[in-house]
Amino acid sequence: MSLGKRAIILGGSVAGMCAAGAVADFFDEVLVLERDIIPDDAEHRRGVPQSKHPHFLLNSGRRAMGELFPGYEESLIDAGALHMMPSLAAAHCEGSVWVPRKEAPMTMVYASRLLIERTLRQKLAQVPNVRVEEAVTVAGLECADGGRPDGRVTGVWAVGLDGGREKQLIEADLVVDTLGRGSAVSDWLVAAGWPQAPVQSLDAGVTYVSQWFQKPAELPDSWWWAQMSVMPTADTGPHPIEHDFLCQIFPIEGDRVLVTMGSWGHPMPRKEDEFIETVHKVRAPAFGRAVELCEPISQVFVTKSTGNRRRRYDTLENPPGGLVVVGDAVCGFNPFYAQGMSSASKCAVLLRDKLSTATNVDSTFSKDYFASQRQLLDDIWTLALARDQGYENAEGTDIAPRWRQRLANRVSWPLFNHISATTREDAVVAQHFADVFNLDESVTTMVKSPRVLAGLAWHAVKRATNRTKLPLGSDLRQDPPSDIWRDGERHPAGQALAIPRGTAQEEFATVSVAARG
Ligand SMILES: Cc1cc2nc3c(=O)[nH]c(=O)nc-3n(C[C@H](O)[C@H](O)[C@H](O)COP(=O)(O)OP(=O)(O)OC[C@H]3O[C@@H](n4cnc5c(N)ncnc54)[C@H](O)[C@@H]3O)c2cc1C
Repeated sequence: MSLGKRAIILGGSVAGMCAAGAVADFFDEVLVLERDIIPDDAEHRRGVPQSKHPHFLLNSGRRAMGELFPGYEESLIDAGALHMMPSLAAAHCEGSVWVPRKEAPMTMVYASRLLIERTLRQKLAQVPNVRVEEAVTVAGLECADGGRPDGRVTGVWAVGLDGGREKQLIEADLVVDTLGRGSAVSDWLVAAGWPQAPVQSLDAGVTYVSQWFQKPAELPDSWWWAQMSVMPTADTGPHPIEHDFLCQIFPIEGDRVLVTMGSWGHPMPRKEDEFIETVHKVRAPAFGRAVELCEPISQVFVTKSTGNRRRRYDTLENPPGGLVVVGDAVCGFNPFYAQGMSSASKCAVLLRDKLSTATNVDSTFSKDYFASQRQLLDDIWTLALARDQGYENAEGTDIAPRWRQRLANRVSWPLFNHISATTREDAVVAQHFADVFNLDESVTTMVKSPRVLAGLAWHAVKRATNRTKLPLGSDLRQDPPSDIWRDGERHPAGQALAIPRGTAQEEFATVSVAARG
């Protein structure tokens, strides 16, 4: 059923394209207005500077994108993305060890943010009633009866349509704000008579630095892995600042890797020579050795645009009819947990589902949408803040009291590492953990589950009494071992390929071991 003549999507990035796919069935025409000219090939653009940094696409996001654009995942893989099981494909250093490799419930698709976005764009181009207008700047909203119960957004002011320089008004029955963190929509609404949507924030001063590299054509035997991650140390005593860094060698299409280091509040290297110096100070020397083998193909990119920030449209008594907000424009997260694209695509699916039972898109519709979106975002927000609230330097409305900061600071890494170790021996805890990480279960549900609590306690007992099935890990000063553990037995890496054909695991194990080159 048509809910109107035209829906306008403000912004054509991940949230914008997902929103366009979500509303296409319900309006005669969908117009996406994007300020950038979007190149066909893989190039960074001004409006999405974060494309220079690694983007993990969580399973729930991958599924949501697939719901909106059937075949999305297959197209992404066809275009060169790598489908792998991180527990097999990654050399992962946590606590003070390389953790043992083994199969686990979670798989991931690794690709550059550029490819994730380009594949979405190709899918969107196949939706007949969607038109993307590039080089068009959204400059304001046209509204009627601002702030009143029946007030609504009726159109969008845009500059650049048909190459013109004048502001033009385009009427719309529904406007979706996906302009990202810098969206001015809430200010435009205030100017039109609505109260300011309250803003919640917590910025723990996270800085990401990334550089792109080509992998060497010949890999040494020690490089069996596809991804390498070195988590911040759990040591609360004095230590070099580099031990607090979160470090990644993140595989993407085209035999390339993104080397990234992130920290909470520390100064980070910005020049190429400092970058290389710093990778050698990472607490696992294999990290620096691997980077040294690669060929740099970009400069060092730096971002501090990582604070958690949420605009609470759900608290407005009478939100404007004809408007919803999706993506970073409503809620941006510290990228550490990789939630942004997945929460945006989940919110787009929610929008599609709400539209499918709606009879119009008035203020009541917006209120209902924002209320349901709130439930979805609350869980993700709680997870995003859990660690950031432990930092004294954090700024914003959601700073924790000092006692909670100290507690979070002391226990969060050891607790995270303990949960992670338990997942390697307890399939039930592993499934909960994978579901929480992938935004399929709330962290509160997981930590309140008696089964999970019992699993964590039992694993603590096993560790204390040396009864774990797997070793706790191996020396991080050595190369990460390639052996795979199954049923408490150690197998040389090759044997992991003997998983029966037709099971998903076989594919992932093959890819992970094939990462030798
Ligand atoms: C360093 C970093 C790492 C990240 N890592 C991950 C990760 O691992 N996994 C993950 O899921 N997420 C990650 N994210 C978050 C992710 O990038 C965003 O959540 C995601 O891109 C959704 O963004 P969006 O579409 O809402 O906004 P954006 O991507 O910011 O897009 C906004 C769009 O609006 C356009 N625009 C802006 N103003 C105007 C205007 N006036 N007129 C017209 N167009 C306009 C811009 O050009 C742009 O195309 C990361 C973010 C950062 C900063």
